Amino acid sequence: MPKRIREERNRGFYDEKAERMGCVERAVFKGQEALKILTYAYENAPGYKKFLQERDIHPGAVKDIGDFSKLPVLKKNRMPSLHQGNPPFGGFLAVPVENLKRIYVSPGPIYDPEGRKEDYWGLRKCLYNVGFRPGDIVMNTFSYHLTPAGIFLDEACNGIGCVTVPTGVGNTEIQAKTMAGLRINGYIGVPSFLLSLIKKMEELGYNTTEELAMEIALVAGEILSPSLRKGLNDYGIIVRQAYITADLGGVAYECPQENGMHISDDLYIEICDPVTGEPLPAGSIGEVVVTDFSNECYPLVRYGTGDLSAIDEGECSCGRTSGKLRGIMGRADEVTKIKGMFVHPRQIDEVAARFPEEVEKMRVLVTREGVTDIMTVEVQLKKGREGTDLLKTSIEEKIRESTKLRGNAVFVAEIPEGSKKIEDTRKWQ
Ligand SMILES: [Zn+2]
Repeated sequence: MPKRIREERNRGFYDEKAERMGCVERAVFKGQEALKILTYAYENAPGYKKFLQERDIHPGAVKDIGDFSKLPVLKKNRMPSLHQGNPPFGGFLAVPVENLKRIYVSPGPIYDPEGRKEDYWGLRKCLYNVGFRPGDIVMNTFSYHLTPAGIFLDEACNGIGCVTVPTGVGNTEIQAKTMAGLRINGYIGVPSFLLSLIKKMEELGYNTTEELAMEIALVAGEILSPSLRKGLNDYGIIVRQAYITADLGGVAYECPQENGMHISDDLYIEICDPVTGEPLPAGSIGEVVVTDFSNECYPLVRYGTGDLSAIDEGECSCGRTSGKLRGIMGRADEVTKIKGMFVHPRQIDEVAARFPEEVEKMRVLVTREGVTDIMTVEVQLKKGREGTDLLKTSIEEKIRESTKLRGNAVFVAEIPEGSKKIEDTRKWQ
């Protein structure tokens, strides 16, 4: 099959009407659907009803979407104990168990039910909109047992007319040979494994210019660094990310602009304070809280994913009008609130990575003077490097860019082995 030109993969929408919907219209639609699923969940999922009753909340108190944040956030990390307290789904299943098609088992253990509805996980639009097209021969390297990733992406491939090669995890050499032998042109999996497969092909003596047919990759489940994306792009491969979870399916996907992931049209998403559950001002970093209004088997309302992100609103030049998640920035339980802003350890690592020649290690100390938080950034330099004023200033600038906070950089002889990235010594009286 001739190589598809990049433009062909970048053109077109899975569901143009929905994806180009006016922003106001979409907000109204999502608000209405979120309220409907709340009532539905309360009436049909006894576990959810109990969850609200224990907190003395009745859906009647939520008159419009402005009241939605009165509902408690149902934290994903509480699900294993809720499930175990009332097996198998903690009463959160809204249909008889025999209506299910599959039940997946994720670490926790946490059980994820799958209903029989077509495209149950909403992943077809993810695949199509990142650039997969009918007829692509796709190797799916996600696991096909226990957890859902392998099977649900396999079904989505079938749903849009791709040919799937279900290779699953591991067996690098067999997979590399298969990739060449079948002239596979689509990849689904973690990004680092795709690079390992290509390296393995080279090691086995294949000529990647002629025998590597790979054109498009959907990657998830691992951070895609700019250098890894570039490394794969250099082999002529389009690499796009999606945010997919075992309980919600396709949450968001990258478009050809590759600068954020468009939020799926069947989810109502808020970015919230991980502690209080209050929605944060537009553009802030916080926990991704999802209400899935397309799922009548397992209706999740204000479900706290534990993942951190921020939403960019506004037009995207691809033509889609939905907001974009700015990537997954870490886990919500790892953040520290400093001067009202959430800071994640990964942001500290990112700043350190901006100074590969000079900086060995970096950590943040948070203290308090009166009512003011003080952020001190300790910097351990590489051997033989000197802590100049110029370096101090540029580190402080990068800290401000990344965290939106002013920090004081100090050079120290050594940051103790095993110390936390953010050391919070504030005392709360
Ligand atoms: Zn876009």
